[in-house]
Order: sequence, then C-alpha cells, then structure tokens
Amino acid sequence: MINPKFKEMLGQKSVIRNLSEAATARGKEIGYENVFDYSLGNPSVPTPDAFTKEMIRLLETESPMTLHGYSPSLGIESVRKAVADSLNKRFGMNYKASDIFMTSGAAGAVAHAVRAVTVPGDEVITFAPFFPEYHHYVGGTGAVLKIVPPDTKAFQIDFEKFEEMLTPSVKAVLINTPNNPTGVVYSKETLTKLADMLRAKSEEFGFPIYLISDEPYREILFGGAKINFVSSFYDHSICCYSFSKSLSLPGERIGYIAVNPADPDSTTIATMCGQISRGIGHNCPPSIIQLAVSKVLDLTSDMSVYEQNMRLLYAELTHLDFEVVKPDGTFYIFPKALEEDAVSFCNKALKYDLVLVPADSFGCPGYFRMAYCIDTEKVERSLTALRKIVSAEY
Ligand code: PLP
Repeated sequence: MINPKFKEMLGQKSVIRNLSEAATARGKEIGYENVFDYSLGNPSVPTPDAFTKEMIRLLETESPMTLHGYSPSLGIESVRKAVADSLNKRFGMNYKASDIFMTSGAAGAVAHAVRAVTVPGDEVITFAPFFPEYHHYVGGTGAVLKIVPPDTKAFQIDFEKFEEMLTPSVKAVLINTPNNPTGVVYSKETLTKLADMLRAKSEEFGFPIYLISDEPYREILFGGAKINFVSSFYDHSICCYSFSKSLSLPGERIGYIAVNPADPDSTTIATMCGQISRGIGHNCPPSIIQLAVSKVLDLTSDMSVYEQNMRLLYAELTHLDFEVVKPDGTFYIFPKALEEDAVSFCNKALKYDLVLVPADSFGCPGYFRMAYCIDTEKVERSLTALRKIVSAEY
C-alpha cells in the first residue's frame, strides 16, 4: 500500500521550491536575467580554488578505491580528526575525532542529532522564524516540533515565551544562528541567557536538555564580526555544520556533527549516529568529498558579494520605509510586507518579476524573505522593480 503520509506531502511542496520553479519558467519567457529571483539559498560564488585543486590532486594521485570506496559509517578517521583539530584551534574547544560524525550536509546532521537525543513523542523547541524543513527534520523522527513565537523587534529570543514552553517534555532545543531567514546572529547575551536557562531547567528536570545548533551560515558574517561558537556556551550541545554555504558546495552534500566533549556522552552520541544512519539510509557521505574538504577546513569562498548585496538592499528597503532588521550575516534579509498578507504582497511583486518568499511557512506571517545570493548587478536592477511596487501598489 502506498504510504498516505508521504502521498499527502505531494500536495505540500516547499513554497521556496515552487517559487524557484516559477522563476525558472518565467526566465524561459523573458530571459532569466530579467527575473529578479530572490527565492533560493543557493550560493552564487565559486568554491575556493584550493578545494578544486585538492580534488584534482586526489583524482590524479589517490587510488580509486580510496576515493570511491565506501567511507566508514562514522566518516574517514583522518577527516574526523582534522575536523576536531580545526574546531579546537579556531574556537578553543577540546573535540576528539570520536566526537565527530560526518554527514550529508546540515540536513543529515540535524536529522541524526534529533534522533540521537529524543524518542518519539518528545518535544523539540525551535524559534520562529525558522527554516521550514525543520518540520520534516524533526517530524520524521516522531518527535514533536514546538515553535516559540518570534521576537520581531530584533529577531533574538523571546525568553518569557520560551520559558513557558520549556516543560519536562522538551528534550532538545534547535537553534539556527546566523539565521535563515532573518540574517540575524544571536548575540553573546542571548546565547548566555539561553545556556543559563537550559542549565537551570536540566538540573530541575534531572536530565540534560540538548542544544542542537544548526550552523550552515557560521562563517557568513558582516562587518568583520567574530564567530560566537554556540557550543562554547553550553556543555550538552551538538553542532550541526555544513560546507554547503561556506565553501559553496551544496550539491556535494557534506557536513558533520560535533558533539561537545564536555558532555559525558559525547563519544557515545557520535558513535550512535553511525547506527542511526543504518536505519535512515542517510549514510557514508562520499569519500572523495570528505577527503577534499578536510584539506580546506579553515577556508571559505570569497563571500564579500553577499555583504555588498545586503548593503544595497538594506539601504533601499529602509529608504522605501520597509520595517527591516539589518542582517548580521547569511545571504538573507527579512522585511515586513507592506500589507498584512505577505502572500498577497509577494504575488503583487511577481507582476514586476520580483520573486520574494512570503514568510508564513517560516512561522512569521506578514514578513517575506529575500535570498540575495545573486549577482550585484542584478540586485541593482531589481531596486527599480522594488520602487515600482511601492509607488504603484501602495
Ligand atoms: N539548515 C538551514 C537553516 C538551512 O538554511 C539549510 C539550507 O538552506 C539547511 C539546514 C540544509 O543545509 P544542507 O544543504 O547543508 O543540508
């Protein structure tokens, strides 16, 4: 029998994917260069040369069995050690290779982390606005996703509402900073308060509440800001990382889990992920890509264009009187729509070939997301369309 749950999902395709497909179709009519497509978070800058050269070197010098054979289920040992060493050097941590588990991107990392620290029926809290795929990353495990309403002033955390929801049913808290869709980075104060609250509640409840930190945008920070490494704030933390954005490698499906070595079960959790991967068939990321990223762990693509695009958009949006919090990083900006119904606003924008994503599915109705990982020249041309919408429609 066909599984009715997944059949039903056919009618619930991602809003972002739908808009991106519509933008591609419109591009066939008027030329894609004339469609201001802000729908998809697909990096627009090349991977660093050092990564490409390492791939070539591997292909020319390593044996096909090493490059194309199965990876061990926890990841290649030398790669896990290189990841641990890099995190220790950059963030003053103490990871061992045994705390690291190689994954297929952040999606694979979060899917394993949730399974490792919850059982079906447990609650996992996240904060709106949030990446809509969390419904699936968490829902697929049998745990229940609970959403703290947004703090629309600064897009930090509404601690009052969070504390109300932090009951003994909650076994994990899932955060994403720098954030998709707001572009906001959680401040040191926010992370400190979050960690203090989790410590206090863990003690009160008699078990550790795990902090799952989804951080694919960790290095995309503006104004030369330093990284606040989330796991350094809280012992029971699981860092879920991806090279999709920092190295512009989303198609290669590579990332990792790093379980905080201060958690007494760190190695057990990382090792359990190997068993979890057997069950979900999300196992053994490509060996050649593991080996190649392990040589460029401290590098990123040249991402300066994202900051340049942010500045152009932020200046124009504030000039046009949009309510918008200035992004600290990522390649997203998250303004309030000019009418209560952001879907209606984004539909009007389509008339001007401006593809914006209404934020209803991010748990924050009335707002919209622009993914500005596109050429600056196109951002500049899109400003005219933005002005036209405001003058013609509002
Ligand atoms: N988490 C967030 C917040 C994201 O924005 C994305 C991708 O856009 C993912 C996870 C999935 O990333 P990956 O491609 O590494 O699986």
